Amino acid sequence: MHVAIIGAGFSGMLSAYLLKKKGIEVTVYEKEAVLGGHCRTLLNRDLVVELGTVICFSQHIKELLLELDISYSERFTYRNFLDEDFRKVEHLSHEEILSLMEELPRLEGLIKAYSCTEKSHNYGKITDLMIPLSEFLMKHNLNTIGQVIAPHLSSYGFGSIDEIQAYYALNVFDVKTIYSFIKGDKLLFVDEGMSEIIRKLSRNISDIRYSVVVRNIESQGEKVRIDTDFDSSVYDKVLITTKLPNDVIKDSLYNELMKKIDTNPYITCAYEVENRNIVTTYYKANLGKKECIQFFHTYKEKDKTILVAYAYGTGDAPLVNQITEDIRKSGISVKHLITARQWYIFPHLKSGNLTEDFYWALTEHQKESSICLIGSLVSKPSISHLYVAVKEFIGTTFP
Ligand SMILES: Cc1cc2nc3c(=O)[nH]c(=O)nc-3n(C[C@H](O)[C@H](O)[C@H](O)COP(=O)(O)OP(=O)(O)OC[C@H]3O[C@@H](n4cnc5c(N)ncnc54)[C@H](O)[C@@H]3O)c2cc1C
Repeated sequence: MHVAIIGAGFSGMLSAYLLKKKGIEVTVYEKEAVLGGHCRTLLNRDLVVELGTVICFSQHIKELLLELDISYSERFTYRNFLDEDFRKVEHLSHEEILSLMEELPRLEGLIKAYSCTEKSHNYGKITDLMIPLSEFLMKHNLNTIGQVIAPHLSSYGFGSIDEIQAYYALNVFDVKTIYSFIKGDKLLFVDEGMSEIIRKLSRNISDIRYSVVVRNIESQGEKVRIDTDFDSSVYDKVLITTKLPNDVIKDSLYNELMKKIDTNPYITCAYEVENRNIVTTYYKANLGKKECIQFFHTYKEKDKTILVAYAYGTGDAPLVNQITEDIRKSGISVKHLITARQWYIFPHLKSGNLTEDFYWALTEHQKESSICLIGSLVSKPSISHLYVAVKEFIGTTFP
């Protein structure tokens, strides 16, 4: 058995690792010259700077970290909230807390009626949640969640609450996550950075093809042929972890899906700053707004302090300068910008494209096909969910 994997992000490298452990031959195709996708640690003069994924939420991921012998720490992050004049304010007012105490159990009850529970790691049946999150929250009188909590979704790159469908929003930002966010629970950080996970997952994978453009993926009887600019190879199965250009996959359902999948632009700016406490600071007035700094976090590495700031939107020089300016106005002395990185995150379908049986039809199709979609194309896009979903997929598809 020989399996090809398209995309060397967390999902692709985890699949490769799990397949290799089962004695299955793997070949990984990656369009960039580096592995990791949205897991990207910049090692700058021994400093660990996370440009992509920073934290993990679940217990499941510890199992992988232990297996790979990767050191991690769990810690509380201290949080500041700033108003439009860069003054410190409370996260939630007394009235907002009272409203949330009434609304959150009600939301929990409503979600229980749908199939998107915190227990599912893949996207499943959709029922009637195909309306924008803001509309869903208004319909059910969940106004405080709408005003105070939902804008955090945009701050993490999931898009405007007027556009993102309740289906995705409530899958990703479920009630448990909302509670955990309000309480400020401990988070798990990988000491040497997320790229350490990718490095260790890739250790025994001898066939990784870098900077390669896949032009064609086509079934040939029971097998699948992959054509690149330079060669053609035939595999028993192909696992696709990422959106591919139109018409690369010669399969009408997958090709239709690729045409409909959308992503959101998101920016990370990393700075070296003057000494500063470890803190995460939210710009309360900006939450939910495009092309504005949403939040930043700072941490100490050796004798340096690193600050990483995030904005939802497309970053050019004026936006990066505005982010730098806002950080300065918050009382921080910026020494210099280390790097700014544009991302495109969270593969999803926009309203109108998502149908009730969409992910169900996809799952059924995958059972028959030698070409399968895995990772954030079909599962909730956080490392912990991806870990469980990919592991489940490999366990059942390659018993
Ligand atoms: C700034 C930022 C912060 C984040 N923070 C967190 C966090 O703290 N916690 C968390 O759980 N999640 C976080 N996420 C989300 C998380 O990083 C992603 O959900 C996860 O890394 C997705 O992994 P993946 O392997 O499914 O996809 P990707 O990481 O997107 O990997 C896909 C890979 O496919 C490659 N590729 C694309 N097109 C082709 C092609 N045509 N041919 C071959 N290869 C191709 C890409 O280069 C990439 O390497 C964050 C994301 C960003 C951008």
